[in-house]
Amino acid sequence: MYRHTTPEGRPVTLATPALHNDPLIETLSTVFGYREFRSHQRPIIEHLIGGGNAFVLMPTGGGKSLCYQIPALHRPGTAVVVSPLISLMKDQVDALRANGVAAACLNSSLDQGSAAAVLRDLAAARLDLLYVAPERLMMRGMLDTLQSVPLALFAIDEAHCVSQWGHNFRPEYVALGDLRRLFPAVPLIALTATADDQTREDVRERLGLADDPIFVAGFDRPNIRYTVAEKTKAPQQLEEFLRYHRGEAGIVYCLSRKRVEQVASRLQALGVPAAAYHAGLPSAERDRVQDAFQRDELHVVVATVAFGMGIDKPDVRFVVHYDMPKNIEGYYQETGRAGRDGLPAEALCLFGLQDAVTARALIENGENPEQVRIEIHKLNAMIAFAEATTCRRRVLLGYFGETLAEDCGNCDVCLDPPDLYDATIDAQKALSAAYRTGERFGAGHVIDVLRGSATEKVLQWGHEELSVFGVGADRTGDEWTSVLRQLIHRGYLRQDIAAYSALKLTEAARPILRGTEALLLARHRKPARNKAGTRVRGDVPSSRPGYASGPGAGAGADATGPAVPDADLFEHLREIRRAIAAEQSVPAYVVFADRSLMEMASRKPASEDELLACHGVGAAKLERYGLQFLAAIAEWVAAPEDPGANAPADPATGASADPAQTAERPDA
Ligand code: ADP
Ligand code: ZN
Repeated sequence: MYRHTTPEGRPVTLATPALHNDPLIETLSTVFGYREFRSHQRPIIEHLIGGGNAFVLMPTGGGKSLCYQIPALHRPGTAVVVSPLISLMKDQVDALRANGVAAACLNSSLDQGSAAAVLRDLAAARLDLLYVAPERLMMRGMLDTLQSVPLALFAIDEAHCVSQWGHNFRPEYVALGDLRRLFPAVPLIALTATADDQTREDVRERLGLADDPIFVAGFDRPNIRYTVAEKTKAPQQLEEFLRYHRGEAGIVYCLSRKRVEQVASRLQALGVPAAAYHAGLPSAERDRVQDAFQRDELHVVVATVAFGMGIDKPDVRFVVHYDMPKNIEGYYQETGRAGRDGLPAEALCLFGLQDAVTARALIENGENPEQVRIEIHKLNAMIAFAEATTCRRRVLLGYFGETLAEDCGNCDVCLDPPDLYDATIDAQKALSAAYRTGERFGAGHVIDVLRGSATEKVLQWGHEELSVFGVGADRTGDEWTSVLRQLIHRGYLRQDIAAYSALKLTEAARPILRGTEALLLARHRKPARNKAGTRVRGDVPSSRPGYASGPGAGAGADATGPAVPDADLFEHLREIRRAIAAEQSVPAYVVFADRSLMEMASRKPASEDELLACHGVGAAKLERYGLQFLAAIAEWVAAPEDPGANAPADPATGASADPAQTAERPDA
């Protein structure tokens, strides 16, 4: 019953007559431009179309929206979608309209006239989907209106917000518990990406879904490469990492607002299109940053955890944790914002000696002892993940109760296994240095003593006289940091937060010092560069054209990846997309996703049919943007001998990009 219309309301005639005898695939391809369902989508869609209720647990980027959008088009009446975030609603509605679906939203950002128009469309059954904020939905008048129009279904997005156990409880969500009672005949689907059991059961209970099926889609995000690097010189590490991700969209998370501002201005000084985002900024500025990011005008957002809930951008290529997050739930949710499009993406976490201490201190400041206990437990799990010497993905999925049949092959541990060595002597030196200096000093001073640095502080305390002074001169400061960090996390040393993080020995240190126990530690690895940069890129090129076939591409990526796209053409198409997005004030991906442009850049479609065969090109987008993109491609194909004319100049040499090398280069 869906209407093929352009956003302006013109009916769309399909360039190819529908050849499918599967109506769901038909909708998937003509409306959304996708070829096939991801494995978990179809059962949910069929269940809902059949009138069933469902609770869906699926990781971010898993493809939750289609689970209710397709049933919305296949059931009579309007589907009502409850979503907590106004910005997210708007983007979803823009994206649906660009696909020719009759969608609208009702929330506090609408003026009276527009809201009245939406209500008229609703009453006249002209809407396939209506997005509405929870408090608005549960208003008396709204409920009455809804009782009088045919409804296809209710979808509750971010359903964990209904539970106090969840990490984002929203009181206005509680009232949604009445929906089942008020609309017993309308199917209800609740969706969330949060995993823990208690929240899950609580949400089902509150929404009246306790007897309905749960659909759980695997939590693995195989296209994301997880890397944890020892934090040595964070600014340089970040800079190095970004050098390999120039021109790509990414988020850098920091723990404090101050840090956010520092990092953002440093990046700006380096010429990176970056901006800061945190809750302390005026809301106009936050909106500006979010919009610019969505529209591809801003590449890097440096942010506190306040940034992200409203981000639906599918082509975020990397997420960096400049500081270690406080728990795995947060870490997984934040890293999950990378690579929603299923293309390879990177998650880099810098883990420093001080991070765990700072996080612990913050938590221990809490009022509620029970809460403190839970949070410390979660922090410990996070530290164990960061310290892991086995496949990171196994640790992560294990935390969410899933097991992997084999190591993932796409994390830093798998790609570059740590080298364990007999560190008994190193440990003895480090423990003695902490002990001989009176267990009153932090890691920096202990390392100075070990390495024989006659700093002012060393001289002031006469530590150059100690027998341990200089016993570790053969190792670098970073190597000693690594040893100390491992000794702390394995419980041989303890950092006394109350006393400037002084290192104190624990009971467990005795047998090591006495030499009755040996100790294996991981050899210090060079920071991020190797792992997230050059070496690995050679194996699995990252995030630029031509790399959709790496081991990481499996995820949400769809079966047929592009061949090798023409990188310059891809850039050219991105430019066109950027201009259209700016002109229409929509996020760039609403026009076309990166994946669509990549397929265009590799297949170089010459006809409407060929364009329709590209990922994400449905009838409405063909009608709307088809000519423009086909013309650009035709022009490009006609003048292939002069790609330099369109390719951006190489900033390093000032020369035009060499087309033969562009695909290899970190940036074009
Ligand atoms: P979630 O809400 O679960 O985070 P989305 O619904 O936003 O995920 O989907 C994530 C991305 O995957 C979007 O870019 C979406 O268009 C794409 N996607 C979803 N299902 C499919 C599919 N069957 N084929 C191709 N792309 C898909
Ligand atoms: Zn792995």
